[in-house]
Amino acid sequence: MAKHVVTLIPGDGIGLETSAAMQKVVAAAGADIEWELAEAGAHMIESCGSPLPESTIESVRRNKVAIKGPVTTPVGTGFRSVNVALRKALNLNVCLRPVLSIPGTGSRYEDVNLVVVRENSEDLYAGVEFEEGSEGAKKLIAFCEEQGAGTIRPDSGISIKPISVTASDAIVEFAFEYAKKHGRKKVTAAHKANIMKYSDGLFLREARKVAESYPEIEFNDNIIDAFCMNLVMDPSRFDVIVFPNLYGDIASDLCAGLAGGLGIAPGANIGPEYAVFEAVHGSAPDIAGQDKCNPTAEILSAAMMLDHLGEFDCAERIRAAVRKIYSDASVVTGDIRYATNSDKPAASCTAFTDELCRILSEDL
Ligand code: ATP
Repeated sequence: MAKHVVTLIPGDGIGLETSAAMQKVVAAAGADIEWELAEAGAHMIESCGSPLPESTIESVRRNKVAIKGPVTTPVGTGFRSVNVALRKALNLNVCLRPVLSIPGTGSRYEDVNLVVVRENSEDLYAGVEFEEGSEGAKKLIAFCEEQGAGTIRPDSGISIKPISVTASDAIVEFAFEYAKKHGRKKVTAAHKANIMKYSDGLFLREARKVAESYPEIEFNDNIIDAFCMNLVMDPSRFDVIVFPNLYGDIASDLCAGLAGGLGIAPGANIGPEYAVFEAVHGSAPDIAGQDKCNPTAEILSAAMMLDHLGEFDCAERIRAAVRKIYSDASVVTGDIRYATNSDKPAASCTAFTDELCRILSEDL
């Protein structure tokens, strides 16, 4: 019997290719994992009536740890995001995204080393929405007017932004605990408390309160727009950054862009009981099925998963192999060729994965 049983949700789009690559690399690093395959995505609607079958959620509950490829969220149509539904079902309240420049990836900065901690359960992602013209929207508009809370145009669609004390405390505490455990020096809270006093204002108030319990770690806050400017001017100003959900989503891609792009940005969704590891990128339908995608982000997400399972050696071996493959950049995928302005031919996802496995086998 394998040492660890992990749920593998390949997802759809490039997820099928990145997940297969990740499995090969984890095996080449010598990790003893049994994968329990579970499905999610639009292709499950016909057979299960849902893009997220109950059996998939049960598998994660059983194994406690999962790694997931991206799942396409169709824009403006029927079903809500599988990613959001999974986070809700498993109470994965933290989204953790370490951002580290890897030399050779053509990243804009050489010295990015920060950690994005994004709240995962509320804010504009709560899914409390009223369609334009619906009874609910009309009642809500009338209610706001009655309360003197403000005038909303009658032809508005409305999304509600709840920010709670419970979720804010939990996410900020996670950020400080993470900083403490990983020897990080500073936590920054990003918000727009000057405009949204009762939602972002509450988040900032709670962040300040939690910070008082961690006097050994520096704390500051940044208004989100100023944060974006400061980040782009000098990412080394930041260490651990904690965000409400929506700003965290946007900032994650921005941070990924500063440090080599979506192809290499790993992540994890963590809750009190379960952890689901997944790359920051989406399903990239434009390149799916063409053996062109960069599997590094999912491979580095697997390294985070191995750390979580206590397999620190295997995790570090994978990270070292990734640094090595980029250090001479002879076998890299198209996204990195583009970022490095190179006219050498791009490697396929398969060729890149095989080279990474070769590096790992030399190391062992
Ligand atoms: P989502 O809304 O699900 O996050 P998205 O459509 O915003 O997804 P992605 O699918 O994450 O965006 O990626 C945007 C583009 O970046 C893709 O269309 C693809 O061209 C490129 N890209 C993303 N991930 C990779 C990857 N792993 N390898 C190569 N290119 C990628």
